[in-house]
Amino acid sequence: MVKVYYDEDADLSLLRGKKVAVMGYGSQGHAQAQNLKDSGVEVIVGLRKGRPSWQQAEADGLKVMTVPEAAEQADIIQILLPDEMQARIYREQIAPYLKEGNALMFSHGFNIHFDQIVPPDNIDVFMVAPKGPGHMVRRMYVEGKGVPSLVAVYQDYTGKAKDLGLAYAKGIGGTRAGVFETTFKEETETDLFGEQAVLCGGVTALMKAGFDTLVEAGYAPEMAYFECIHEMKLIVDLINEGGLSQMRYSISNTAEYGDYMTGSRLITEETRKEMKKVLSEIQNGVFAKNWIQENQAGCPSFKAIARQEKELLVEKVGARLRSMMSWLKK
Ligand code: NDP
Ligand code: MG
Ligand code: MG
Repeated sequence: MVKVYYDEDADLSLLRGKKVAVMGYGSQGHAQAQNLKDSGVEVIVGLRKGRPSWQQAEADGLKVMTVPEAAEQADIIQILLPDEMQARIYREQIAPYLKEGNALMFSHGFNIHFDQIVPPDNIDVFMVAPKGPGHMVRRMYVEGKGVPSLVAVYQDYTGKAKDLGLAYAKGIGGTRAGVFETTFKEETETDLFGEQAVLCGGVTALMKAGFDTLVEAGYAPEMAYFECIHEMKLIVDLINEGGLSQMRYSISNTAEYGDYMTGSRLITEETRKEMKKVLSEIQNGVFAKNWIQENQAGCPSFKAIARQEKELLVEKVGARLRSMMSWLKK
């Protein structure tokens, strides 16, 4: 079983006398920076000038400066910028200011694991990654709780990398819930696989295929949308709260019987074989290489597919139905 660390395993005083620069003030940045500050850690936020995020961070009582200024002053640098921009910003605005014994941190391993960021040998490199969105990381902290998180050490120059990581995890509230030990490789590869095969790619393809099947058979698109897409949240919430069994307890017996009979007809041996192929393309770097090249070219396929997807019937029907649901946020 994986090792899990809690509050008593982490020593916040390791961060005393150190300056932590949180680069970025988006989903994770705003949460981690504010939690650290409220834990008594000296935090600076690194951003670009003239953006609303700068004003927001200042309004939240944080000290804000440009990324190079923050990098120069910091002992510990947590990079919470968009993954696809990290390598360039690191190269131009962070690397020149790194000093021996500093720590470079991440909440996702992509750039380190796929060698987009190659740090110098004389610093610590580790990851603290909350397993939840930033607003949850902030909300739980304020409520005296925490979000389960990961800790991983890539490079331990000072001999203190893991202890520093655990101290940071404590500062953002992670050790209140539990912090799992992992590696950059494991975190990166499982994260990519999960989002591609199941959470994002898998789920949207399944929804669209179900929707198309009903519509092509002559059923009303609105009905198809309700049954194959809208109700997904109800089912997922039940699984989230009580696992597959709890979900199956809550649905009708007819639905439960249909679940058992049909699921394995869709996820066939062929699908499982393809999943393994998806995984091996993540492991051997083919996916990462494609995504990096796509970014270097200005994301032509990415933008084209995104445009096509927005035009699908399923999106038009969905927009209309959601406009009738007054409880949904506009
Ligand atoms: P967001 O996209 O929410 O935020 C990115 C931040 O970076 C913004 O504050 C943006 O500010 C700033 N930024 C963008 N470009 C620049 C630039 N050139 N110079 C300075 N600042 C810049 O990112 P996330 O919080 O979603 O992701 C951050 C990291 O956390 C990623 O590694 C991600 O994988 C990881 N992660 C994210 C999770 C999540 O819940 N979202 C969960 C776990 C890990 P502005 O545009 O105003 O300049
Ligand atoms: Mg991801
Ligand atoms: Mg139904």
